[in-house]
Amino acid sequence: MGVEFDRVSKHFGAVRAVDNLSLAVEDGEFLVLVGPSGCGKTTALRMVAGLETPTAGDIRIDGRSVLGVEPRDRDIAMVFQSYALYPHMSVYDNLAFGMRQRKVSRAEIDARVREVADMLAITPLLQRRPRELSGGQRQRVALGRAIARRPRVFLMDEPLSNLDAQLRLHTRAELSELHRRLQTTVIYVTHDQVEAMTMGTRIAVMRDGVLQQVAEPQRLYDEPANTFVASFIGSPAMNLLRGELRAEGGQLRFEAPAIALTLPPAFAPVPAGPIVLGIRPEGFERRPVPAPGPITGTVVLVEPHGPDLYVTVDASGQSVTARLDPACAVHPGDTIALVPDGRGIHCFDHETGRRLA
Ligand code: ATP
Repeated sequence: MGVEFDRVSKHFGAVRAVDNLSLAVEDGEFLVLVGPSGCGKTTALRMVAGLETPTAGDIRIDGRSVLGVEPRDRDIAMVFQSYALYPHMSVYDNLAFGMRQRKVSRAEIDARVREVADMLAITPLLQRRPRELSGGQRQRVALGRAIARRPRVFLMDEPLSNLDAQLRLHTRAELSELHRRLQTTVIYVTHDQVEAMTMGTRIAVMRDGVLQQVAEPQRLYDEPANTFVASFIGSPAMNLLRGELRAEGGQLRFEAPAIALTLPPAFAPVPAGPIVLGIRPEGFERRPVPAPGPITGTVVLVEPHGPDLYVTVDASGQSVTARLDPACAVHPGDTIALVPDGRGIHCFDHETGRRLA
């Protein structure tokens, strides 16, 4: 079922937790709501669940307003980061609980519990109590409980946050696979941009209660709407450099102290003057050249990542990180020149941060 936020706001006193949010989550979509702590993700989710009432606007599920509909009558399942299981019940009973509440027949309950347990590989745990499970196993039971209910919509709030790195990776893949099979609408909240990029059909980026951009993961990476999205999506973050754009002898030049670049012709429509130039760390030639060069700076940080070497230089007060070949002999204190390879370059308005090209 589709979920629609129609100019939804939620204010807590002076705090605008969610501000005029309009967003249509399509039927069967896996929409990830992402943004830094406090940007309003959880509040948005809780309004869909019926745990908060919007200050203004409307929320529709399958085209019908759910304002005034009790949480239990909305037919959605929510998985929180603290997956509260019933401690005195077995895993089986935890999985069955929601269906018993809905007066599903005993045979049907048994069939669904076994199906979900099988799907999540928790069949051997069905008779255990939550305290006899590991964190990861409890997480699966919580997910299983939501899935067994076969809701119209899943709401998930950082459901992987309590798992260790390996289990997180595994469960991430499992959730994506589950979504592919069930084709149920999912709204998934996280502050982890990697989780967002790998799981989302689309990603909605929020900041201070305001939706910044909603798009497919690759589009968000390739065409960020503003400097906030640009620096939030991608790791390490995009370099944002202040300087002047000049048109000289048929060429476009970007200039700042210690920086002088010729930009590809695609940037011709950007008016000359002050701009913010964005270059991803992966948008450089893999080897630096002797200084001076396009971006000249003193090396301040060298971080080996196995296949890549991330090197950060100070270019006359602006910090620039580049992904280089790990075979490069680069050391803190060296003066080197970084060479953009012409891909992954973006221009933003120097005042508003809005994307220009
Ligand atoms: P996190 O990633 O840290 O969970 P979030 O993006 O989910 O953050 P919300 O929990 O939605 O953010 O909170 C958004 C803003 O609303 C915050 O400034 C928060 O302090 C405020 N807020 C949330 N719930 C309440 C409440 N019940 N009363 C007052 N303020 C609240």
